[in-house]
Amino acid sequence: MPAGIIRSYLEVRNLSFAYGNQAVLRDVGFTLQPGELLGMLGPNGAGKSTLFRCILGLEKNHTGQVLLDGTGIETRSPTVLAKQIAYVPQTHYPSFNYAALDMVLMGTAAQGREWALPRTAQRQAAEEALEQVGISHLRQRSFRQLSGGEQQLVLIARALAQKATLLIMDEPTANLDYGNQIRVLFQVKTLSRNGYGIILSTHNPDHAFLFTDRVVALHNTRIAAAGPPAEVLTPELIALLYGVQVLIRQDEQGVLSCTPVLPTAASS
Ligand code: ADP
Repeated sequence: MPAGIIRSYLEVRNLSFAYGNQAVLRDVGFTLQPGELLGMLGPNGAGKSTLFRCILGLEKNHTGQVLLDGTGIETRSPTVLAKQIAYVPQTHYPSFNYAALDMVLMGTAAQGREWALPRTAQRQAAEEALEQVGISHLRQRSFRQLSGGEQQLVLIARALAQKATLLIMDEPTANLDYGNQIRVLFQVKTLSRNGYGIILSTHNPDHAFLFTDRVVALHNTRIAAAGPPAEVLTPELIALLYGVQVLIRQDEQGVLSCTPVLPTAASS
């Protein structure tokens, strides 16, 4: 992590939110320390994206609190908040074909400057961010011609160029092939080891086992379980969240993995 950056501590406290009279989140609370990688699990529609929108200050009609370093996010201007917490979207195709470096420079717009005329400091921040995720060599390549995994790393670099130290990632491995999933998650893990606090949503228990420090599982608007994945991700929890039976195994190195138990084929 570049020098002089303050590492932030996040606390979500008693957060509840409803769309009209449909409750989506009830009494949700957890913390995220600097350097921690937290996996957010839960079936489609469980409220993960809504929770992220509340944490990013985009959804204001919630009860409870989102605290950064002990004070509510509503006390900060959007520009100040963007320097602390950044959203990393899934890979997408922008309508214009920017070079990787330019995509990252757009993240520095959060620092209140016109990205079209980047100052030296902003250019340096963008170069550093590319370096941090190991893709400096792609700086002049056009975003659209990069692989899905490389695009995802560019989007992560863009968040880093904001100078944010808390990153929120909505399924960063969706749409990626197996190799790119592992490469992206490995980079994400490395960032967390370097002091970034990271929340990512995932549907893959094996990714949670391999990469996360803690998980929070959302089910029926509430936190169904929270804690280290090895303690929390049980066959019972997976059945509750996703409605499938699984076996959880441990290899000789102690690595846990999850295998679905398929129903036996009906005999004719
Ligand atoms: P997840 O990210 O876990 O899939 P979401 O936060 O997107 O879940 O959605 C949670 C619930 O809120 C779902 O039932 C969804 O249909 C509903 N929802 C999401 N966005 C809106 C919206 N803008 N208006 C009304 N309901 C919404």
